[in-house]
Amino acid sequence: MKILIVEDEEKLANALARGLTVNGYTVDTVADGKKALMRITLHRKDYDLIILDLMLPSMDGLEICRTAREQGVTIPILVLTARNETEKKVNLLQSGADDYLVKPFSFGELNARIQALLRRPTEVVPEILKTGDIELNVIERRVNRGGKNISLTLKEFGLLEYFMRHPDQVVNREDLLAHLWDFNYASFSNVVDVHVKNLRKKLGDGGTENTLETVRGIGYRLRV
Ligand code: CA
Repeated sequence: MKILIVEDEEKLANALARGLTVNGYTVDTVADGKKALMRITLHRKDYDLIILDLMLPSMDGLEICRTAREQGVTIPILVLTARNETEKKVNLLQSGADDYLVKPFSFGELNARIQALLRRPTEVVPEILKTGDIELNVIERRVNRGGKNISLTLKEFGLLEYFMRHPDQVVNREDLLAHLWDFNYASFSNVVDVHVKNLRKKLGDGGTENTLETVRGIGYRLRV
């Protein structure tokens, strides 16, 4: 899951980014309003959630939210407001925000809101994914194969989750980079291959019958 933080208070932005990263999210931060809108509209497919501050340089959060929705962006938006801005609540929800949080807030509160927003389509996104004899529990972040526990790093887990949500499809490296790595990695690099190699090892893949198949020149496919 990848989150875009739009916040111009550097300390807060950094603290949020750190906390969310520890919780397993991939995070990008933008401090300027217009830049944020551009990032959101051009890279809408990369993000699962946007955390949006209201008072920003060059364009305020409300306008970003309204414009993004007008342009068909459907990513859940969680707005951060100062206490004296709460009268804008109705405005906020009308502008297309999904939820808001009044500053100062605890990290626990933030996490609960994020999980509620990301979990909304519970019926279509099962919490336990199964492919062959591999089982992945999204909520508990656990993986087992043939009943045997496998411990994965955050990135390996993210990769496997992505493959299991796209079984038997050819997934290209650029998609994996866009979903699992932050914006600075967006140029082509072999970081994906390195992590896939490690993931394979842990899954016990090897020899001719790889579960994670390399599709030459494109990417990978998780065989069903
Ligand atoms: Ca601000």
